[in-house]
Amino acid sequence: QERVKTSIAVRGIALSFGAVRAIDGVDLNVEPARIHGLIGPNGSGKTTMLNVISGYYRPQSGTVMLGGAELEPGRSETRAGHGIARTFQTPRIVGEGSVLQNVMIGGTISGQGTLVESMLALPRHRDDERKLEKAGRLALRVVGLESLAAVRADRLQHSELRFLEIARALMLRPQFLMLDEPAAGLSVDEIARLGELIREISRQGVGVLLVEHHADLIFDICDQITVLNLGRVLAAGTPSEIRQHKEVVSAYLGG
Ligand code: ADP
Repeated sequence: QERVKTSIAVRGIALSFGAVRAIDGVDLNVEPARIHGLIGPNGSGKTTMLNVISGYYRPQSGTVMLGGAELEPGRSETRAGHGIARTFQTPRIVGEGSVLQNVMIGGTISGQGTLVESMLALPRHRDDERKLEKAGRLALRVVGLESLAAVRADRLQHSELRFLEIARALMLRPQFLMLDEPAAGLSVDEIARLGELIREISRQGVGVLLVEHHADLIFDICDQITVLNLGRVLAAGTPSEIRQHKEVVSAYLGG
């Protein structure tokens, strides 16, 4: 069925861990069919932002709006139900399961519950199972892993696991997808393929929030970039605007 195309608007998010202000009043918009890069040095709050938007952390203030409706804080199941999907910095797999099984989990996974819980929640009815399997094979084809469907997931190379995670996220038929450093550990060729895949996903109407250290990928594929520093927005704009931003250039781009 046709998904309503929905934007994400994050307003005034603040979240401290003890005395550490991980996020200190951040605004962010991601439009449908747009790729939004979130960059900044280690510890600037990028992963914390993903955890707030995905509902894993409850912020001390601020709102996450999906298509004009405010999402309840701290409920990752609700996020999955709204079609918000994400991948993790460290790929999460059930090693003894097949690649296909690991992707099928994505059709039932809710937020950050354990993978084994999700596996146990796979459908008991044969019809559902067949539909889920068909969707799983399709998702594997989209990311170029269809030939490995029957292989044990712990036999995959690191780069293949990254693509597997994206296939699993696609199983939620997301309106909005968050990717946490998907290019980490990938070769130049693999990064090019990843960039093409992310573009293709966004062309289908999905808004993408991309946390990534790989500057070439960010500047290559993003429509908008937000730069965080110490939990605040240091700069936000198009790639060409960000390239001209003096503080950003001296701090992160080695210019
Ligand atoms: P980034 O993803 O940009 O590297 P993080 O969001 O991981 O940054 O971290 C932002 C800040 O919040 C850092 O100072 C980090 O040490 C702190 N932080 C993150 N998560 C936690 C946590 N669960 N408990 C305590 N401090 C945390």
